[in-house]
Amino acid sequence: MSKIIVLMGAPGAGKGTQARLLQERLNLPQVSTGDMFRALKEAHTPLAAEVRALMAAGQLVPDDVTIRVVRERTAQPDCRNGYILDGFPRTPAQAAMLEKLAAEQGKQIQAIEIQVPLELLAKRMVGRRNCPVCGEIYNIYGKPPRFDNVCDFHPEAQLLQRADDNANTVQARLTTYEEQTRPLLDYYKAAGLLHVVDGTGESEAIYNDIVATVSAHG
Ligand code: AMP
Repeated sequence: MSKIIVLMGAPGAGKGTQARLLQERLNLPQVSTGDMFRALKEAHTPLAAEVRALMAAGQLVPDDVTIRVVRERTAQPDCRNGYILDGFPRTPAQAAMLEKLAAEQGKQIQAIEIQVPLELLAKRMVGRRNCPVCGEIYNIYGKPPRFDNVCDFHPEAQLLQRADDNANTVQARLTTYEEQTRPLLDYYKAAGLLHVVDGTGESEAIYNDIVATVSAHG
């Protein structure tokens, strides 16, 4: 049965980095609600303005909007053989919708928590930079680019910092996670669908653990 791999974990745990690595290995697309909302917020519509304000405040986009976006994206042909969810679900309503969607699509959910202690997360987020051309993710503390502030693959591109990776918004995002998203781990655990990997080491070691977990569970 094809799979929906759900990467769970707090903001800054490394879901995006791992989803990018895994999509090549598993030949499944990365479906990142954060990336979709970052693209959406650039539009000149009332919805874009609402999403922009919520993201800047470290709050969640409403469930109805998020669910619609995920439903539409995962109906695309490239998701037919499965996909990797990065940043979804984040609320109980989203988790319930995903269960329904998986049943409709004939897919099996496998949730993987990338576990990182709270005290490391803020520093990781504030240090995060990404390439505007290829999306490669760096960290000025943990995984710096070869040359200061430029992408290893696109030396013409200055790295960017996400607007919501500033100290204030980071704290709000961590609170939002603790209140609304962390409880979902219990839900997946109780359903026997959760696997935990240690997210504190090098991204390659974490990646190897995730690949081993995915292969070990069919
Ligand atoms: P991320 O890149 O996953 O950290 O997401 C960045 C921001 O996008 C979050 O702080 C939320 O404002 C919004 N967002 C991303 N995914 C979701 C989701 N599943 N539900 C609600 N809001 C989301």
